[in-house]
Amino acid sequence: MYRVWTRERVFTSILSRRKRKTPGGLVARPVLTSYYKSKQFKTRPYDPYNVITSPNETILCVDSFQSMYSQMLCGLIMREEVLRVGAVFASGLLRAIRFLQLNWEELANDIATGSLNHKVTSPSIRECMAKILKPNQELAELITNECSGENWEGIITRLWPNTKYLDVIVTGSMAQYIPTLDYYSGGLPKPCTMYASSECYFGLNLRPMSKPSEVSYTIMPNMGYFEFLPHDPSAPAFSRESPPRLLDLADLEVGKEYELVITTYSGLNRYRVGDILLVTGFYNKAPQFRFVRRKNVLLSIEADKTDESELQKAIENASLLLREFSTSVVEYTSYADTKIIPGHYVIYWELLVKDPANSPTGEVLNQCCLAMEESLNSVYRQSRVADNSIGPLEIRVVKNGTFEELMDYAISRGASINQYKVPRCVSFTPIMELLDCRVVSKHFSPSAPHWTPERRS
Ligand code: AMP
Repeated sequence: MYRVWTRERVFTSILSRRKRKTPGGLVARPVLTSYYKSKQFKTRPYDPYNVITSPNETILCVDSFQSMYSQMLCGLIMREEVLRVGAVFASGLLRAIRFLQLNWEELANDIATGSLNHKVTSPSIRECMAKILKPNQELAELITNECSGENWEGIITRLWPNTKYLDVIVTGSMAQYIPTLDYYSGGLPKPCTMYASSECYFGLNLRPMSKPSEVSYTIMPNMGYFEFLPHDPSAPAFSRESPPRLLDLADLEVGKEYELVITTYSGLNRYRVGDILLVTGFYNKAPQFRFVRRKNVLLSIEADKTDESELQKAIENASLLLREFSTSVVEYTSYADTKIIPGHYVIYWELLVKDPANSPTGEVLNQCCLAMEESLNSVYRQSRVADNSIGPLEIRVVKNGTFEELMDYAISRGASINQYKVPRCVSFTPIMELLDCRVVSKHFSPSAPHWTPERRS
């Protein structure tokens, strides 16, 4: 969900989706949309710690532009009162910043004139905004001054000066957004409070101010029936003859990894969530977990298997080479290209270049390819070096805004904007075409990574 701006306030940008029907005729919609459309939300009692800047009408509008635009407008108008800025996932908050980058001129104009952009056509939004929007030349000038420059460093605290922290999840695959969030917020704290899914609420972070890399979520045993599959990648696959042995909460061991399996009040029976968790301790008898990664292998050309956390680590290592160019990777996805033999990994990067006069050269980006390969596991490197069964890794840099278009595409096909997560691996032809049309440069590893037989343990 988007939670961007709140008063006492949280500036929270929340977006609802239309409901759909499944082929079997059941109503389907994302869990957060269900909540926002519910009586519980619409008639919620006043909570001084959770007063959001967005009126219900702006949240309930299913047109994402109109909803986001009017929520952003309210967030700007109430800028002095905003104490926290957030979204459920870090990617949602960055999406809101991007929206501001694209629309600040029109927003400032609305504030200067006190009249709402004609692109917002929803009668209920227009009616409620008429009560909130008044001409405010001074605020319009401030927004124009802050947003018109190239430098967006610290924009969150410049526009919302009383913000104390960012209310976003930055654990798991969201960790990659931390440098970008730090850039836009001047390093505000980022407490991760909860670990949850559409299917079930799982856990709470009892030490919200801990560093993102040290966050552990304490499972709430009353939220469902929790069971765990020991996670051992080297173990043989399950079969009918040797079914998996599920463990109960009380049987888990600190330091071991498990896959989460849930049985929920709403009827899911032994559902494999797909998350791998590491037990870090116990609170009373409830286990505490570090979110390790989503389970599935992302990339594989032949014997190699690269999962999400390995790919992310490789990207983090390669990004170190971009630091001296004040450049960071804001989004990425990957693709196992096997059209040409040997196949190779293709990584799509969208970059944030803070100083265009000093952007990374082609040679630096080639070195980034090699740095990624050096970070990948020994099976990958063996295939590259000894077996020649994988070709040099390729980075394709895409135009700014490409990943936003990717999200728009996913939303047009029914994904929830609030719960959207960038796919870390793609293979669907229309998505590949979308990405490939926006490639601005291609780079390959200039040499093979290191590999020695001894390292293959
Ligand atoms: P959804 O089904 O869209 O609600 O997404 C649920 C999934 O988001 C979970 O199964 C996790 O993979 C991921 N997720 C939720 N909370 C967290 C968290 N605090 N840290 C990391 N990943 C999370």
